[in-house]
Amino acid sequence: MINAYLGVDIGSISTKGVIIDDHNKILASSYIWTKGNPMEAVKTLIHNLENQIDKTKINIIGVGTTGSARKLIGTMLNANVIKNEITAHAIGTLSLYPDVKTIFEIGGQDSKIILIEDGIVVDYAMNTLCAAGTGAFLSSQASRLGVEVEDFGNIALTSKKPTKIAARCTVFAESDLVHKLQMGYKKEDIIAGLCKSVVSNYLNNVGKGKKIKTPIIFQGGVSKNVGVKKAFEEEVGSEVIVDPNGHLMGALGVAILSKKAPTKTNFQFSITEDNFETRGIECNRCPNHCEIICISKNKQLIDAWGNRCSNGDIFHKQ
Ligand code: SF4
Repeated sequence: MINAYLGVDIGSISTKGVIIDDHNKILASSYIWTKGNPMEAVKTLIHNLENQIDKTKINIIGVGTTGSARKLIGTMLNANVIKNEITAHAIGTLSLYPDVKTIFEIGGQDSKIILIEDGIVVDYAMNTLCAAGTGAFLSSQASRLGVEVEDFGNIALTSKKPTKIAARCTVFAESDLVHKLQMGYKKEDIIAGLCKSVVSNYLNNVGKGKKIKTPIIFQGGVSKNVGVKKAFEEEVGSEVIVDPNGHLMGALGVAILSKKAPTKTNFQFSITEDNFETRGIECNRCPNHCEIICISKNKQLIDAWGNRCSNGDIFHKQ
């Protein structure tokens, strides 16, 4: 039996997971869509990981979760580490690129920048509010242009003269794109222009005022778009590295962190057969009206959170 560690990064668009060994070697990995149902997504993810390993030879002693639903999924998986995305991505990336100074991350609905000095996060910024410049923005523009978003990057690379697109906001970008199409601009030039606008939006938003140093690692779903990678390199004037496992860095980071946790987990692959439910209860004991989230496993309450004072603890027992 070898010791192994499970890391799960659960976002609103995608769910990523890895199983690693003591040397951080990835033994199994999976990337699926969350489809608005994090609990079902995690069950599918665990099935996918389970199918890639020999369970008789692996003992999972650590589980880490990160991402927007990290608390919920952490409870479900009996995680011994629950960490924010910044820490998780930094630890995962540093395990492969110990000299990294800047991490660009653009996902389906948000983006972030992480600045690192001597292996320590010294600054970061996140954009979770504006869809402009994210994967969702590129997907909607791709369908408007009648091309697959997966082909966006390669089409952009064929452009000789990228069209300037105003992409500070999705509404302006869409109307500008329609306008440029009507004026007869070539599709590849518009697509290259969109890739450039994603980069300028990013650098003027999360990257504003940040001192960008090399080596730079670009990750998140949008990093698979070679057009955006090229646009970043032109804008910052240096190489931008995209790791083939860049989409797994958050999951890898929390799996590594779970190794160092003081407690071990008793994770079982059979959790995929358990019935998990969540419900929200409003506490009316004061004007705060806290919404307390209760999670139960096979009808037994296993965790609850959301109350701002101990008066709400009563709901943790119901
Ligand atoms: S949990 Fe505490 S702060 Fe929240 S509504 Fe109840 S009494 Fe008020």
